[in-house]
Amino acid sequence: MSYTIDGETGAWELVIGLEVHAQVVSNAKLFSGAATAFGAEPNSQVSFIDAGFPGMLPVINRECVAQAVRTGLGLNAQVNLWSRFDRKNYFYADLPQGYQISQYAHPIIGEGKIEIELQDGSTKTIGITRLHLEQDAGKSLHDQHPTKSFIDLNRSGVALMEIVSEPDMRSPEEAGAYLTKLRQILRYLGTCDGNMEEGSMRADVNVSVRKPGEGYRTRCEVKNVNSIRFVMQAVEAEARRQIEVWESGGTVEQETRLFDTGRGVTRSMRSKEDAHDYRYFPDPDLPPLVIEQSWVDQLKAALPELPDQRRARYVRDYGVTPYDAHVLTLEKETAAYYEAVARGRDAKLAANWVMGDLFAAINRTKTSIAEPPVSAADLGALLDLMADNTLSGKLAKEVFEVMVETGRAPGTIVEERGLRQVTDTGAIEAVVDGVLAANADKVAEFRSGKEKLFGFFVGQTMKAMQGKGNPALVNEVLKKKLA
Ligand code: ADP
Ligand code: MG
Repeated sequence: MSYTIDGETGAWELVIGLEVHAQVVSNAKLFSGAATAFGAEPNSQVSFIDAGFPGMLPVINRECVAQAVRTGLGLNAQVNLWSRFDRKNYFYADLPQGYQISQYAHPIIGEGKIEIELQDGSTKTIGITRLHLEQDAGKSLHDQHPTKSFIDLNRSGVALMEIVSEPDMRSPEEAGAYLTKLRQILRYLGTCDGNMEEGSMRADVNVSVRKPGEGYRTRCEVKNVNSIRFVMQAVEAEARRQIEVWESGGTVEQETRLFDTGRGVTRSMRSKEDAHDYRYFPDPDLPPLVIEQSWVDQLKAALPELPDQRRARYVRDYGVTPYDAHVLTLEKETAAYYEAVARGRDAKLAANWVMGDLFAAINRTKTSIAEPPVSAADLGALLDLMADNTLSGKLAKEVFEVMVETGRAPGTIVEERGLRQVTDTGAIEAVVDGVLAANADKVAEFRSGKEKLFGFFVGQTMKAMQGKGNPALVNEVLKKKLA
């Protein structure tokens, strides 16, 4: 069943294509040696090139090109050995050059595709149109002075990858899943940190609506949306607006809009500019970018394991469900943590502990998988204490809570608090005898057919043993004595 929105004239389908700007992880900018660290003092990372001084010559940064190629390979895309930089001319206060160096006609990466995972367990392939390299602009600061605006050029000239998708998405969920997957791939590759709050990944969201079976109608572009949740909201809000326009007899005009996150609506920013407005032409300061196939092959051979491969490996080698594998591989850090716990142990049990108790503890303590409340080594040790029967599952939960509170190793906690489970059959028999003697009436009822009482005896025995009886042995002994 495909996703539609009902208007007065019936169902409308959504068509969505995303243009994602991803800041390249690199110590230096695309055409200068200036640093790129986030949060530095304004204008402390600016070379004459980034400030647009006349006569400065840009020199391409090899590492930024490598990052673009790695990303292209990660997106199953065509790598173009010959590409070219163009000037995109426009005036803006935070663009001192008066143009942005970008790749217009000949991008370094051509068509590719990625697979997205949806809530209902299905997958869908989304086409990548292209990826090109370009410079980021500086930033205007309007909140520093009552009557003046300032310019911070630290971001000016930082390398961006613009990743353009085909208009293949059909619902807010698919747009969210696409961004989630793209971000995941970039983070696995180490080519973009995917930090949307800091602006290192931002999306322009193209939306149109149509009646089922129709061709595409005019789209609008919602600029610079900076979280996955906002992208999904913007899609929905913009689609509803367009449906109203069409249904009231109007025409959707192609334009650039902004998403007002407070009010949940999009509003017009400017009418859509066309390519010819920018007077693109090849940048005369830069020769075409020519790379060798052998270098691409080297980069390919050195690529890390990507999310799809890792997920498949978890299902194959660890026997976890595809859904669990999906959750465990969403973040590279989670995957590394899980593997450290699972390796050489009961991998399914490890998955349950990581996704259950550990995730809950992270939420509760407001920490993260990168700085977890319990280390992978300690959680692994806890699983070992279950495997060798020192701890029952129930006791292990207790020990885990103490681990979260105190940060101590499970072995230490077991010793200190005497939490070792009792597996001595003789000791359990003694307790069971006491419980049965004290409840002679219930024993009689049980023997005359009230079998539900079995749970009562288990409870009483466990209580008498402060929860430390081995559950399987307690059951076994009770069965024998009650028979
Ligand atoms: P431009 O060069 O004007 O930005 P593109 O053709 O490059 O336009 O498309 C930009 C983005 O808009 C792409 O992500 C594409 O998938 C998306 N797009 C194109 N047509 C439509 C449409 N009718 N509805 C929704 N998105 C669309
Ligand atoms: Mg565009």
